[in-house]
Amino acid sequence: MSTSAISSPHYKRINEKFGIDGYISDATALKFLTKNYKSILYLTPDTSDDSGCFGSGFESVKEAFGDENSRQIPLTLSMPAFQFTCETFPIHALAAFEHYQRALDTLPTPTVVVCKSGRRASAVLATYLGVKEQRSEVQVLADSTVSGFSYVDAEALREWSTIVLINNLRRRSYSGSAAMIFRQFFEKESSTYTYLLADPQTKEAILIDPVLETVERDAQYVREMGLHLKHCLNTHMHADHITGSGQLKRLVPQCTSIISEASGAQADIKIHDGDRVWFGDRHLIVLATPGHTDGCVSFLMDDCSMVFTGDALLIRGCGRTDFQQGSATKLYQSVWEKLFILPGSCIVYPAHNYVGVTSSTIREEMEYNPRLKVGISCERFEEIMASLNLPRPAKMDASIPANLVCGV
Ligand code: FE
Repeated sequence: MSTSAISSPHYKRINEKFGIDGYISDATALKFLTKNYKSILYLTPDTSDDSGCFGSGFESVKEAFGDENSRQIPLTLSMPAFQFTCETFPIHALAAFEHYQRALDTLPTPTVVVCKSGRRASAVLATYLGVKEQRSEVQVLADSTVSGFSYVDAEALREWSTIVLINNLRRRSYSGSAAMIFRQFFEKESSTYTYLLADPQTKEAILIDPVLETVERDAQYVREMGLHLKHCLNTHMHADHITGSGQLKRLVPQCTSIISEASGAQADIKIHDGDRVWFGDRHLIVLATPGHTDGCVSFLMDDCSMVFTGDALLIRGCGRTDFQQGSATKLYQSVWEKLFILPGSCIVYPAHNYVGVTSSTIREEMEYNPRLKVGISCERFEEIMASLNLPRPAKMDASIPANLVCGV
C-alpha cells in the first residue's frame, strides 16, 4: 500500500507496525483495512465537534475491522491525566498511558491510531514507542519535532508524554543495581505486615505500620543493614494491635512518628492528602483513603510501582467499617477515587492478610475483589459491609488508647 492510497492530510506511516491519522471517513477507514492495517485504536473525544470522525460512527469501522481488532479509548485534554497542574498528575498520567499501552501491545499490527487531527494519536504513539525503546523524554521530543508530530505544540500532551517517559526511565534505573531496599515483615498474632523501605545510597529508611511485639526484630534489622531509620509511618490508628512507633522512637532516638491529622492521634508529624514523605532520594505520596477509619491513608511509591493500602484495600477484601467512625460509603469512594485510578500494574501491599497472601495488584483487585470489583455498586458494597457481623477485635480495648498516643 502506498501512502498516497490514503488521501488524508494527517496520515503518517510511523514504521512497519504503526500509523496515525486524523479525521477520516467510512471509506478511508475501510481502505486501511483492505490495504494493510489489521487493527485500529480510536482515541475518543468528549466534544461533539469531533464526533463525526468516522462519518456514520465507529460502529461501521468495528464491523469492518472486527470487534477484537477495534479499540476505543478516551483521550481528552479535560481528563485528569492531561491536567498537569493537578497535584496527583503523575498518577493519572501513568494510569492513562497504561490503557493506550495495553491496547497497542495487544492489537494485531499494523495498527492505525486515529483521532480528530492526528495530534493526540501522535502523542500516544511517540510516547508508546519511546517507552518501548527506553528513550529519554528529550530524545523523543527532538525526534517528534523532526517528524512533524503536531502534539509537540500542545503543552498538555507534551507534558503528559514527558512525565510518562521520565517515569519509565526512572523505574528502569530504580530496578537496577541501586534498587530500593524493600522488606515485608509479618507479625503473626495480629497478621500484620510491616514494611521497611530504604534508599541504598543515603541509607535513609522508613517503616510502615510497625507492631509493638516485633519492634526489636525491626530495629535489629535496621541496625544490621546500617540504615538510618528516619520515620515510622502509621496508615491509621489500629484497633487490633499496638503500633510499634513509640517503642521504636526509644530504640532509635532520631526517628519520628507519623500519622494523619484526621486520625486524631498524637505523633511527631501529622500528614494530609497529597503530602510527600521523603527518605533519601525516594518518597511516598500520601493518599487520604478514609472509610475503615476517618484517618486512614495509603502511601503511594513515587514511581507508582507500589501502594501501601493499610486496611482500606486488602487482598480480596477490605477493612471493616463497623466501628472507629467506619463508613462503607466513604470506603467505597476512597477505593474507587484514590486507588482504582492507579496504574493496573501497581502492586498492592496491605496492612494485613489472614491467609498468607503477601501482595496483589490494582488490576487484580478491580477484577477479583469480591466486595469492590468492577460492577459492584456503592449500595451493594454497603449491604455487603452491613451483613458481615464481625466480632470485636480482641485487643481493641488496649490498642485504641495506646495508639491515640502512637504507642508511647
Ligand atoms: Fe485497622
